[in-house]
Amino acid sequence: MITEVVNANELIKVDPVFGQASFNDHEQIVFCNDKDTGLKAIIGIHNTVLGPALGGTRMWKYANEWEALNDVLRLSRGMTYKSAISGLNLGGGKAVIIGDAKTEKTPEMMVKFGQFIHSLSGKYITAEDVGTTTPDMDLIRDVTPYVTGISEARGGSGNPSPVTAYGVYMGMKAAAKQQFGDDSLAGKKVLVQGTGHVGETLIDYITKEGGIVYISDINEAKMQEVSAKYGATIYNGDIYSADVDIYAPCALGATVNDETINKLKAKVIAGAANNQLANEIVHGKQLQERGVLYAPDFLINAGGIINVYAEIVKYDKAEAMRRTENIYNTTLEIFHFAEANGITTQQAAMSIAQKRVDDRKKEMAK
Ligand code: NAD
Repeated sequence: MITEVVNANELIKVDPVFGQASFNDHEQIVFCNDKDTGLKAIIGIHNTVLGPALGGTRMWKYANEWEALNDVLRLSRGMTYKSAISGLNLGGGKAVIIGDAKTEKTPEMMVKFGQFIHSLSGKYITAEDVGTTTPDMDLIRDVTPYVTGISEARGGSGNPSPVTAYGVYMGMKAAAKQQFGDDSLAGKKVLVQGTGHVGETLIDYITKEGGIVYISDINEAKMQEVSAKYGATIYNGDIYSADVDIYAPCALGATVNDETINKLKAKVIAGAANNQLANEIVHGKQLQERGVLYAPDFLINAGGIINVYAEIVKYDKAEAMRRTENIYNTTLEIFHFAEANGITTQQAAMSIAQKRVDDRKKEMAK
C-alpha cells in the first residue's frame, strides 16, 4: 500500500515503514509505548557489525510520529558511520522520545524507557542527546547496565558535550587550515547556530583563540547569557546569508537544504549538529561546486561518543581528550582523500567508514 507521509522536509509518497526515504538497511526498529507514563519512544538500530549500537536518546516535540521515525532512522544511521570512522568498536543506534522534554519528561518515564532498553539485552546502549541529561541516564542506570553518559559520581564519564565541543573545535581548525591555509581561528568570523551544551563550549574555545563569534538561538534567555559571558554578538538577520567565514550548525539537523544553500557566504561549514545536509548527496555536491568546505558532521562531532566509549572499554578523561584531539588529523585526511578522488568530503568520510564495516563483515563471514 502506498501512503502519503509528511517527513521533516518534504511530502513524499512511500511504503509506510521500509519504504521511508530514510530507511537504509536498518536492522531493527523498536516502538516503545507505555500508557501509564505517557512514554512514546522509538529505538532505531541501524547496524551492529562493529559492536552494540550506541547512540543517545533525543526527546523532542515532533510534529507527528512520521517525523520522529524519520529522525531516528537518519540519526541511527549516522551513528554507524560516526563510530566506524572514529575507530570505535560500536554499531549505530539512536532513540527518540516523542514529547516536550521541559514539560512532559518524568523520572517514571525515564525508568520505563530504561526497561525497554534492557529488554534488548545490550544490542542498543543509550546516552544523552538533545532533551535528555546526565541525571536521566542515572535513572536509566537504575534498571539497566546498557546506558552510558552516567554521572561521574556513579562511576560514569559525565556529560559528553564539552568533549563533543572540543572535537568540533578540532575539526573546525582542520577545515580552516584546508580552506584558508592556516588553522588559526584568530580574526575569523564564526556564526554559531545553537548556544546549548555543545555550542557554548565551542564558543568558549573560539573566543579564547581570538575568533569573532556571532550567535543565534531560539532560546532568547540562553542566547543573551552566552552573549554576555563570551562577548559574542547576537546575529539578528537571516543567519544563512550572514557574511562570515565559518558557519557552525550546533542546533538541529538539515539546515543545509534547498532554501539555504544558495544564500551561504561562509566558506567553511563545521558544527556539532547531526545530519546537517538535508540531502547528503545533492547538498554535498552543491557545497563542493560552490567552493564551500564541509567538515562532515559525524566525523567532527564524535568527541561525545569517544567520551562515553570510555565507560565501556575503561579509559580515562585524558585518553578521551587525546583521541578527540585526533579528529584534527582525521579531518585533514578526509579532505585530502576527497580532493585526491574528486569526491565530496561527505562521500569521502562515508566511504572510509563503510569500508571499515564491510571489512569486518567479511572477516566475520570467514
Ligand atoms: P542542546 O539542546 O543543549 O542545544 C541546542 C540549542 O539549539 C538549544 O539552545 C536550542 O534552543 C537551540 N536551537 C534549536 N533550534 C534552533 C534554531 N532553529 N535556531 C537556533 N537555535 C536553535 O543540544 P547540544 O547537546 O548542544 O547538541 C547540539 C547539536 O549537536 C544537536 O544536533 C546534537 O544532536 C548534536 N550533538 C551533540 C552531542 C553532545 O555531546 N551533546 C554529540 C554529537 C552531536
